[in-house]
Amino acid sequence: MQTLTSNHAVLINFVYVIAAALFIFGLKLLGHPSTARKGNLLSSLAMLLAIVVTLLDLAIVNYQLIVIAIMAGAVVGVFAARLVAMTKMPEMVSLLNGIGGLASLFVAWSTMVTPTSLPPFILIVTYLALLIGGVTFSGSVVAWGKLSERIVGRPIMFRGQAVVNGLIVLAVIACGVLFVMFPQQPIYLWSAMGLALLFGVMLVIPIGGADMPVVISLLNSYSGLAACAAGFALHNNILIVAGSLVGASGIILTQIMCKAMNRSLLNVLFSGFQSVSNETMVIEGEVKALSADDAYYVLEAAQSVVVIPGYGMAVAQAQHAMKELQVLLEANGAEVAYAIHPVAGRMPGHMNVLLAEADVSYEQLFEMDEINKRIENFDVAMVIGANDVVNPAAREMKGSPIYGMPVINADLAKNVFVLKRGMASGFAGVDNPLFFKPNSRMIFGDAKDTLNSIIRQFDN
Ligand code: NDP
Repeated sequence: MQTLTSNHAVLINFVYVIAAALFIFGLKLLGHPSTARKGNLLSSLAMLLAIVVTLLDLAIVNYQLIVIAIMAGAVVGVFAARLVAMTKMPEMVSLLNGIGGLASLFVAWSTMVTPTSLPPFILIVTYLALLIGGVTFSGSVVAWGKLSERIVGRPIMFRGQAVVNGLIVLAVIACGVLFVMFPQQPIYLWSAMGLALLFGVMLVIPIGGADMPVVISLLNSYSGLAACAAGFALHNNILIVAGSLVGASGIILTQIMCKAMNRSLLNVLFSGFQSVSNETMVIEGEVKALSADDAYYVLEAAQSVVVIPGYGMAVAQAQHAMKELQVLLEANGAEVAYAIHPVAGRMPGHMNVLLAEADVSYEQLFEMDEINKRIENFDVAMVIGANDVVNPAAREMKGSPIYGMPVINADLAKNVFVLKRGMASGFAGVDNPLFFKPNSRMIFGDAKDTLNSIIRQFDN
């Protein structure tokens, strides 16, 4: 029996090493849109391998429950992935993070309710898994509530909030010490669970709804850390590796998002977004509107067009119409490029996903820095539902809260067409001088309707 067990252990750990390597390759492939699908498949395969080999563990006593759980999870996953609209994806990611945290919390709880004596290290990591899992779960639920507008989006602050948070942290530490000293007393476990859930809520309520995507990325990182701690509690190597990878990639993504918004993580977490008072911004020039029919004549003569999509393209679901127009422009001899800002839309990679859905070739997608080097050569910059990510105030207006944020310099193209419904500001609540530039034309209306009108002109 002993030999069989150690053989199993060797086999399991060997497959875990392969799975870990596949996770890392998968992550690498996720770094580029053209390989992201492959990266996703590779990582899923690694997870399947890890699950199958874990099930060989002789300690498993109930396969029926595991099969039922896998089937139930698969059904929910398939339906959720198929039914959720693209614009609702951040909410779904938030809930998935929360469920990851809850799973770690349950693992920690089940480790403790089994009446065996555990060494202090295992007690500490179990406590951490429970704590981080609980914070991730309740924080993610609040983030989901804010994003879906079920909870008020503005930062919720009250007098003495910092004191309350400080007391919770002290209680968490005290509870942890008592838990490690007296692990048989269930009161400390239950108290820790309650404190963790409360702390998750307290951490997220003071953050504005608009900053939720950054918070979700951070909570994603927490869910990885919780899984990593659960891995230590269960002595499961692949859970430790996978949890660390999620934790590290989540924090890197959080940093990338903060950098692209020219903000620090501390600023996102503790100060809310300061909208500029428009009195401080004096914008010169006048807004000139253009009809879709007139835009057609300019596009028909254009040799090069750069498309800059933003959140409004997701709202209008205009990506398919844009692809249709792209084909017409190319047939007419024009070069068409897409410029992607790292925080265009409401989640990282939002525009890449939409354009991939419309079958836009990856070779035509260019990152902000690449396109900015040659943007003045484009005959037309078509801004489709983007606002903040093309706001030249980030370059020109020192007093603006987005001053210093890297933006796509659409205003430097020969002609700029801005497709949006009205003069509303974007996510940052900041006026946009681009709309007033002499080379800018506003094409008012839903972006998809506007694109369809231009397509009809090409077809005539
Ligand atoms: P913005 O939110 O700045 O602007 C979107 C614009 O789309 C609006 O001004 C709106 O104007 C227009 N719009 C809405 N619906 C339609 C429609 N049906 N047809 C045409 N236009 C429409 O979007 P950007 O993508 O430019 O910028 C993203 C912002 O989100 C940045 O400030 C970024 O920092 C922030 N952010 C992004 C994250 C990410 O991960 N991507 C995470 C956190 C924040 P109108 O109402 O007049 O039509």
